[in-house]
Amino acid sequence: MDSAALFRSSIQGEVHVIIGPMFAGKTTALLRRIQSERNNGRSVAMVKSSKDTRYGLDSVVTHDGNKMPCFAASTLSNFRSEIGHEAYSKLDVIGIDEGQFFEDLYDFCCYAADHDRKTIIIAGLDGDYMRRSFGSVLDVIPLADSVTKLTARCELCGRRAFFTFRKSAETQTELIGGADVYMPVCRQHYVNGQLVTDTASIISECRKS
Ligand SMILES: [Zn+2]
Repeated sequence: MDSAALFRSSIQGEVHVIIGPMFAGKTTALLRRIQSERNNGRSVAMVKSSKDTRYGLDSVVTHDGNKMPCFAASTLSNFRSEIGHEAYSKLDVIGIDEGQFFEDLYDFCCYAADHDRKTIIIAGLDGDYMRRSFGSVLDVIPLADSVTKLTARCELCGRRAFFTFRKSAETQTELIGGADVYMPVCRQHYVNGQLVTDTASIISECRKS
């Protein structure tokens, strides 16, 4: 075994998770980590869900306009088969944006880190607009070396925002949108806003009947 192969065989996989509400800078933090891994000479790739078409399918773009090329895939096992075995085996680091959209996140991270010795860095929402666990992001926390929870600024008072508030009355969990549909809010404004939304829907139900 040559020294490069020996070095490779001593590398262990890692899983890092970046969570938080929308507008907390999760994608920015992910891009920064991926770029720094690349600057250290490691081979990197970014994956995002093909469900999220907000900024085009071939790049990841942060809310502040920072951009990096990436693969769009419906599942992570599709990503692996699409880039091909050889390209996959050369990768050291895989960044996954909007991790909540990947149903096979847990299985992929488990195998890629334990068996394939990849470093996986995931950014995703921990909760949906109802503050319930969103997709499989929380499932990978038991696999993780590190978990970072970022916060945003409350759009109404400027305090730290932990939650994503949905401004519209749509109730499907996966409603993809930006600042037109969602805003980051603090606990108090989440509770106040929820009251307003609930009252509005009760009134509209009463009018229907
Ligand atoms: Zn607030």
